[in-house]
Amino acid sequence: MSIITPKLILASHNQHKLEELKNIISQILNVEIKDGEIVSSADLGLIEPIEDGASFEENALIKARSVFKQTGISAIADDSGLIVDVLGNAPGILSARWSGKHGHDRENNLLLLNQLKDLPDNLRKAHFVCAVALIKVVKSAEKIEDVIGDSIVKVGKMTGKINYRQKGKNGFGYDSIFIPDAYRSNLTLMGKTSAELTAEEKNKISHRTYALLEISKELKGIFNA
Ligand code: IMP
Repeated sequence: MSIITPKLILASHNQHKLEELKNIISQILNVEIKDGEIVSSADLGLIEPIEDGASFEENALIKARSVFKQTGISAIADDSGLIVDVLGNAPGILSARWSGKHGHDRENNLLLLNQLKDLPDNLRKAHFVCAVALIKVVKSAEKIEDVIGDSIVKVGKMTGKINYRQKGKNGFGYDSIFIPDAYRSNLTLMGKTSAELTAEEKNKISHRTYALLEISKELKGIFNA
């Protein structure tokens, strides 16, 4: 049995993000991603850095750099979150732990719905932001610490509004309360939350896709596409 060396490591412990990333990259580059070509830092048991950046971009870079330093393999990280206009920049970089506990999607959604309780449609505008950081190997070396990488950070957005209740079972995070604008004039998909969209429908319009499109040239180099 041959073991595939990963071409790219995603700095994340979120299995949903790994699946989305694989799907989007294979969609953008029109290549088949083989098992083991993209793995997560959790799969490899890597140490997680403290995400103490002040912005999505800074946090994405912190995560990607940490994986690159530990492995000498090209590393990608996304830092993403939801911004609700009427709440200023909130939940923003605190999106994953808005209710106090990291990754408690249900509690985060219920708190946000409660904060927007009784607000009309025009005050429910929101958008997702995704910053993607890629550290790409430009010069390999025998010792991990001698490998040289180039970094790039790009941002993508998905605009929409917060629904009045949770709907749908797909996706993760705030998908069940977020209605994307992109399908506003689509008779079949209008009014659906991202959790009611298929993975393909969401990936066509998502903040993650737009950010990854910005680095497609670099990704092509990694996957020889
Ligand atoms: P991160 O893992 O630190 O980037 O935190 C991102 C948080 O933002 C997630 O835990 C979700 O709550 C939210 N989020 C980011 N992208 C999405 C998305 O595509 N759908 C729903 N929620 C998202």
